[in-house]
Amino acid sequence: MIIAVDGPAASGKGTIARALARHYGLPHLDTGLLYRAVAARVLAEELDPTREADVVAMCDFDESLLESAELRTDHVGRTASVVSAHPLVRAALLQRQKRFAQQPGGAVLDGRDIGTVITPDAEVKLFVKATPMIRARRRYDELQRHGVETTFDRVLADIRARDDRDSRRSEAPLRQAADAALLDTSFLSIEAAVQKAIALVEARRGAAG
Ligand code: C5P
Repeated sequence: MIIAVDGPAASGKGTIARALARHYGLPHLDTGLLYRAVAARVLAEELDPTREADVVAMCDFDESLLESAELRTDHVGRTASVVSAHPLVRAALLQRQKRFAQQPGGAVLDGRDIGTVITPDAEVKLFVKATPMIRARRRYDELQRHGVETTFDRVLADIRARDDRDSRRSEAPLRQAADAALLDTSFLSIEAAVQKAIALVEARRGAAG
């Protein structure tokens, strides 16, 4: 079974995808990390993230980079949303994601275009959302816990800018696939959101088979 989980930044899609992978014993790929890895290399090489040809040359990175804690920073996330708008960058990362999805037994992938582009035939598609205010609050609390100096307004502005870039780009924009089940986590605890996600997967599987 392939489970595609899409949604905006800090919607809870990563947590839900990891929990589904554990529940169903499936391998999981956080596809945002691939774009973050490219962004981290662009920053390390001091390249301009808006120059597509330079960024494409950074797409053939070593797998071990995906383990780096540095990929999780907001600076890298912001740059990832710039480099991910380049069609050639998306093309360079496409096969890697498709191969992961097509392994025997299935997989869980989360990102922005999993249900629409990477695995349009996935048995189960979820689109996870929450209001920008609530996502900013979650991200802000998380940054506070990690001792990062920032303000709520800055985090909210960042979330809105990222949503805007990810939804407006011409190549594989963030949008809910027509056949995806919507899961709004705005007023759900993590546990409740995960339970709801499992219930949606079960309903889809039941309907399919
Ligand atoms: O999900 P995460 O915040 O790690 O993703 C970082 C950036 O990578 C996103 O803002 C988005 O621009 C890009 N991305 C994408 N397609 C995906 C996953 C992430 O364009 N499948």
